[in-house]
Amino acid sequence: MTARILVAACLHESNSFNRYPAGLEHFNRQGIFRDDAVGPRFAPTRTEMGGFLAWAAQQGWSITTPLAAQPASAGPVAEEAYTFFRDVLHEAATKARKAGLDGVLLALHGAMVAEGAPGQDGDGGLAQAVRDAVGPDMPIAISLDPHGNVSDLLAGSVNAISAYRTHPHTDHFETGQRAAAMLTRALAANELPQVHLARRPQLRGFDGARTETGPGPMHEAMALCRGFESVDPAIYEVSIQAGFSPCDTWHTGPTAAVTAATRGARFQAVAETMMDFAWDNRCRETFRLLSVAEALEAARNVPPGPGPIVISDYGDAPGGGAYGDATAMLSALLQAGLPNVVFAGLKDPEAVAAAEAAGIGGQVRLALGGKIYKNFGGGPVPIVAEVLKLSDGNYVNDGPYAKGLPNRIGATALLRVLEGPGAGMRIMVNALARNVLDRAQLRLVGLTPEDCNILCIKGMDAIRAAFQPGSRAVIPFESGGIASRGLDFSALKRIRRPVWPLDPIAAP
Ligand SMILES: [Zn+2]
Repeated sequence: MTARILVAACLHESNSFNRYPAGLEHFNRQGIFRDDAVGPRFAPTRTEMGGFLAWAAQQGWSITTPLAAQPASAGPVAEEAYTFFRDVLHEAATKARKAGLDGVLLALHGAMVAEGAPGQDGDGGLAQAVRDAVGPDMPIAISLDPHGNVSDLLAGSVNAISAYRTHPHTDHFETGQRAAAMLTRALAANELPQVHLARRPQLRGFDGARTETGPGPMHEAMALCRGFESVDPAIYEVSIQAGFSPCDTWHTGPTAAVTAATRGARFQAVAETMMDFAWDNRCRETFRLLSVAEALEAARNVPPGPGPIVISDYGDAPGGGAYGDATAMLSALLQAGLPNVVFAGLKDPEAVAAAEAAGIGGQVRLALGGKIYKNFGGGPVPIVAEVLKLSDGNYVNDGPYAKGLPNRIGATALLRVLEGPGAGMRIMVNALARNVLDRAQLRLVGLTPEDCNILCIKGMDAIRAAFQPGSRAVIPFESGGIASRGLDFSALKRIRRPVWPLDPIAAP
């Protein structure tokens, strides 16, 4: 018999330090896709939804696709947007159940902070809405980002969890397929699997889920997970999530989620063992963030050779929900007078508008960037520049990250600095706050990394997928900004206390 499956995606990573709520307008920039619009948009992509759709086609499932939305990271989701998505999913699941439904596949992020959700737990609220609609006996399998903070509500509302196993995340598609495979297994075995969740009083763990910065805790933890799966056939999957610290929710922090055929103490013990590992290794990390001055010094010390030196602004990474307009490194690079420098991904819609008004070849006098949070990460920087290129900022991902997915960074201008020690430096400015994640973004204005001596971009570890290959060095630094490690996390009021590293705490 053909299985009837509801397939949906609603992903958002929220940074509670971001003062701008993510309303429907924010989601609409990347698109909210409904029903028949979901397949054409996502089937050609290496996203979770792409993985779901390919699996469904291969299985011959009869699917309904009420929703797919995955905007850029930003502030907490506004209530109007959260309730819209919740109601869409609830109504679609209710309708599907009445028509005959065998299971649900959902792609969530796990770090959606949402106004109007229980405890501001957006992912838990969405999963609960689906559960309420389909009843207690319907298998629901979900995919997550390992930077998701998994709540008890989320784990208790679903039957199977699989998070990405790479960071940078290049296995969205495969993770979607793993979640779909668990649903297939549950249907074939007529089982209703259960999720066993564990956490410790810690905000960070599993080395932030990093897998491309060398051997470390995430590799070791995943080896333990695969080991547990291999010796116990009742375990569907052991999934670990490093969490995302700037989320003001009670449950923020790393988790282990063991999906097993039934509920059982031995499965909970596996989850607890994984979190013992997370606690014991909480201080081990495979990278070190440099200050602006240290990063510049490190860049000067990289031997000459082919390929760029990539300097990435971790603390102001829009992929972590930051504003993307911090200027501390921009100022330092303008003063340093190094040859052939490109600074890409600075958000400043006013500067782009001025460049558009001047036109290609025109000159602009700007106070660039630093407008949103000028006391933290650097204020506006005065420059005189020539407009080299303009673009609408629309492109299709063609790198290792969600390949095939149309994307946008907003109206974009490439400027060349005309005065001062930084004369000749090129700056790519865009209207929207976005990580520089894909080489296609640079090609919008005719840039390639190979043409740069130094390429400074906004982004955390995710930038390594596209830019580490062929580079002479990748140097992450902290300029300040609201994705910074230097934030006062005790300003987040919902996070359970005591919690490491905010409080002195004995081993739990
Ligand atoms: Zn992530």
